[in-house]
Amino acid sequence: MSPDPEPLISVIAPVYNEGEGVDRFVHRLTEVLAVPGQRHELILIDDGSRDDSWPRVVRQAERDPRVRGIRLSRNFGKEAAMLAGLEHARGDAVIVIDADLQHPPAAIPEMLRRWRAGAHVVEAVKRNRPGQSVPSRLAARLFNAGFTRLTTVELVNATDFRLLSRPALEALLRLPEHSSFFRGTSSWIGYSRDTVGVDIDHREGGASRWTFRALCRLAVNGLTSFTSAPLHLVTVVGVGFAGFAAVLGIQTLVRWLRGGSVAGFPTVILLLLVMGTFILLGLGVIGEYLARIHEEVRGRPRYLVQDRADSGPAAGEPAA
Ligand code: UDP
Ligand code: MG
Repeated sequence: MSPDPEPLISVIAPVYNEGEGVDRFVHRLTEVLAVPGQRHELILIDDGSRDDSWPRVVRQAERDPRVRGIRLSRNFGKEAAMLAGLEHARGDAVIVIDADLQHPPAAIPEMLRRWRAGAHVVEAVKRNRPGQSVPSRLAARLFNAGFTRLTTVELVNATDFRLLSRPALEALLRLPEHSSFFRGTSSWIGYSRDTVGVDIDHREGGASRWTFRALCRLAVNGLTSFTSAPLHLVTVVGVGFAGFAAVLGIQTLVRWLRGGSVAGFPTVILLLLVMGTFILLGLGVIGEYLARIHEEVRGRPRYLVQDRADSGPAAGEPAA
């Protein structure tokens, strides 16, 4: 799989307010990556951190030319940060990993072995989920199971910790959509794949950067970019209601023709409420898709680069 006797491995890590975690991360990764017969670059994408993460990235890049830093102009979110890294990577294989050391770097040699054995995509699959509350674990499981059912993308126990070969990366970068969902798109492209089981560690410092809102956005983004099943569901529910209304209408008509009394104020209110709810839900679902179309049509860049820390050899790099 490796054309070069000394393949270049790019490791990409999004960094958002990781503070001293940056130094720990670079240290740990350099340990894992610095093996004979392989070159590496470590790309840290500062996703608009408000703490001293960027100066730390710069210092690391000055110390070691294999470390490269990219600073986004503001917080664009983890998906955009990962994309920035993928677009700037030069390696024959790229590995995306969290900078908080929750993804065990020790799994990287095994991922590289699978890549050398011919896999184009190597996914790290969670064997555990530490430090997650029962409701959030339940929500995640529900979403992943639903997503997997509605689409052809396997999400259960999936992580963003994955390796892509150069051809798989090129394929991924050809996807034009703006609100990307790395876990989904990197599965969608296909290519021969392999998995490696990992134990997710506890966070070494700070707290999770994900807010409930950001997670909801990610879920809606993921769903709307991979399936139009919710739209079909709205149609199906609408047809169901139409059928129900027809039956009810005929029944009422027959009763009236027979001279019976037509009563049922509560029934009317209840029906109104139920219908109203479904109409609003339907509008909401359509609105989500419309919003995505709007976003794609606007075609704004997915991230903007403010600064770079790159002391290594320059290469033709895409402009932000
Ligand atoms: N991250 C980022 N931008 C954000 C949020 C998170 O670049 O807006 C990075 C963060 O620095 C970390 C990774 O994404 O390297 C995963 O974030 P976190 O640990 O908060 O997520 P969790 O582990 O809870 O899924
Ligand atoms: Mg984390």
